Amino acid sequence: MSISGATRVAGVVGRPISHSMSPILHNAWLAAVGLDGVYVPFSVQPGRFVAFVNSLRGGTVAGLNVTLPFKGEALALADETTFRARGAQAANVLVFRDDGTILADNTDGLGMLGAFAEQAPGFDPAAGPVVILGAGGGSRGAAAAFVEAGCGDVRIVNRTLLKAQEIAEPLGATAFALSDAAKAFEGAIAVVNATSAGLSGSPALEAPLEATPQGAVIMDMVYKPLKTPFLAQAEGLGRQTVDGLAMLIGQAVPSFEAFYGQAPPAGVDVRTLALKALGL
Ligand code: NDP
Repeated sequence: MSISGATRVAGVVGRPISHSMSPILHNAWLAAVGLDGVYVPFSVQPGRFVAFVNSLRGGTVAGLNVTLPFKGEALALADETTFRARGAQAANVLVFRDDGTILADNTDGLGMLGAFAEQAPGFDPAAGPVVILGAGGGSRGAAAAFVEAGCGDVRIVNRTLLKAQEIAEPLGATAFALSDAAKAFEGAIAVVNATSAGLSGSPALEAPLEATPQGAVIMDMVYKPLKTPFLAQAEGLGRQTVDGLAMLIGQAVPSFEAFYGQAPPAGVDVRTLALKALGL
């Protein structure tokens, strides 16, 4: 990669950031397309995020992906926000315009829908009830994306019911306590695990997936391990599954487009690169 005076700079900001897969994905696409651009990680101290982003206004960088713990602050400081970002109450993409304004978007939900399209072709989010487990940032992005995709029956299940209610209410979704998961699973066409249970080293989520219809598609946002205990349980029941790495790559696609003005090139096997970087 050679850096010139005209190199278009974008990146990802978070803390910690060294584990981020995003630089691997974006720089592989940039290299493949031969674009004069670079994508770099920014580790910003808590309390300095807003000053950092404001200092970049006016096109110093083309854009930023935003990850934990700054997604809420990113939404709040933007001049314009997309429906998806407002629905998710969080932004994972900031686009810096030449006039000094910032547009905030959320592509996590698009990434999730892209993962379904890739690994469960034919899945139609508008065809029936979908269930999201968890009520954090991932859940909010997923819920907003399902609503925007035409799903009229989104069910949010969470250990802390109040948090599920807070997400459900503005979206016209329904909230369930985790103890009522079996009820929420009735008739579902998809179940998405957006809890952090099942992350390497943490106990698996206990969910009564046997209460889902045989045709339900089961997805886990967690991608380390790639086959989480939740997905293994779903496979054991004969359900079709979708993994979190496909979502991670899916959210990067519209981000790349927003930063570099073109879609990522086809034919770059970023999944294999990411699996290698994850040691999987
Ligand atoms: P948050 O920390 O915001 O939310 C975590 C949620 O998990 C909370 O609702 C919490 O419940 C619930 N939870 C945690 N542990 C348990 C448990 N043992 N049993 C039941 N519920 C539990 O996380 P995010 O929403 O930001 O992320 C969720 C997961 O999704 C993470 O693993 C993250 O890495 C992944 N993710 C993956 C993406 C991808 O591209 N593949 C994108 C975004 C997220 P409570 O409210 O009761 O505390």
